[in-house]
Amino acid sequence: MARVHPMRAIRVWLTCVLLASISAAAGADGGALLVRNGHVLTMDAATGDLPRADILVRDGRIVAVGPDLDAGDARVIDAAGAYVLPGFVDTHSHLYTTTMRGQFRNADGRYFDVAEHLSPVMTPDDVHIAMHLGALELLDGGITSTGDFFDNVRSPAHGEAGLAALEASGIRAVLYYGGPDKSTRQPIDLAHLSALAGARDQAARVRLGLAWRLPRDLDDAGNWAMRDREREVARALGLPVQVHVSVQPGPIFDALIARDLLDPALSLVHATDATPVQLQALEAAGGALSLTPVSEHRVGYGLTRLDDFEGVSRQGLGIDGNALAGCGDMFAAMRLAALTWSGGARDETAVAPRALLELATRRGADALGLGAVTGTLVPGKRADLQVIAPGSLQMAGFGGGDPAALLVYSAAPTDVRTVIVDGRLVKHDGELVGVDLPRVREAARASARALLERAGPR
Ligand SMILES: [Zn+2]
Repeated sequence: MARVHPMRAIRVWLTCVLLASISAAAGADGGALLVRNGHVLTMDAATGDLPRADILVRDGRIVAVGPDLDAGDARVIDAAGAYVLPGFVDTHSHLYTTTMRGQFRNADGRYFDVAEHLSPVMTPDDVHIAMHLGALELLDGGITSTGDFFDNVRSPAHGEAGLAALEASGIRAVLYYGGPDKSTRQPIDLAHLSALAGARDQAARVRLGLAWRLPRDLDDAGNWAMRDREREVARALGLPVQVHVSVQPGPIFDALIARDLLDPALSLVHATDATPVQLQALEAAGGALSLTPVSEHRVGYGLTRLDDFEGVSRQGLGIDGNALAGCGDMFAAMRLAALTWSGGARDETAVAPRALLELATRRGADALGLGAVTGTLVPGKRADLQVIAPGSLQMAGFGGGDPAALLVYSAAPTDVRTVIVDGRLVKHDGELVGVDLPRVREAARASARALLERAGPR
């Protein structure tokens, strides 16, 4: 056996003591948890529902799911009488617009006009306040992952403020880093994006992606050169990419196909106008879809008919900005998608409520490229989950059986009692943990007022 020098042995011992104290400190905020006696909807096809089961979480990961698990040193979260689901996955958002809430007044203020009026006067602090508030609202309603399309990166400081806000909120996110506005004229700051990507772990809770846009004029070769370069950089950095296909929907989708730009790293947003041929091409390329029924209906993109998209394997639901959707409410998104489906099909039996839960969890995670990380409650996944307690009047009167219809048609964000992200308790007993809500609200109000003042009349 090799002899160890005494000083080296002391150093090793000191390192061990230090590591032990770090992990003890983590125990207070991210230590082991046991979610006990819930009705667990694992959303994993092989495991199904477990009407009474525990979930043991260690080091941010689910280590066991089943009845009567030994809690050991884990903090116990009582879920008796409640439903335990994977956290919802919002596949597309614009959280920086959260402080524009109430300003989109339809005929008296179209979304794009108002957003393009207020976005230029946002400082990095305004971005941080809006994105932090938006992410907290998502967490409060059981949404544990978001794909945030950040198309207001007016400077490196704005980009860093957005990342810092998502980090601070505790949410899991892909921050799709975009250009300085919603136009297609400006380039994305690829040097800054590359520097950020180089300094970050793409397996971390908050990851980077590219918020891509295509030329408004699809014959503009100069603009295509800029866009192709952005896509090449994203590919080289291994970043996922999102792109809206709502502007000139048919020609844009056709251009993506003709230029062979569809691939598994790309997800398309707002495909309400897509044709079966276009969707087949997306499916063949392994690309993904993000469907945001509330915002798509609100801005008049058409009806989000889930039965139109049945041929696309990778798809999920999105909020598309809490302000545009009204609020960051995945229950509302599921409900609207379900109602549009049955109403459009003129067939009550067309909709399986569980299909909505699948879109909001497992399928959404897969669409965001996070299928190996989150979206189901099975050992090995990161621990992103929510406990829904049916204590409100609007959930009362349920006598048992499959709870999927109850959750889709009756539940609301206020029914989400506990939320865990990456093994960390972010909402408990109906309250966000460690958040000074009066301060968050006041900062958001002050920032929103200042935006209106600085932007002046439209
Ligand atoms: Zn969008």
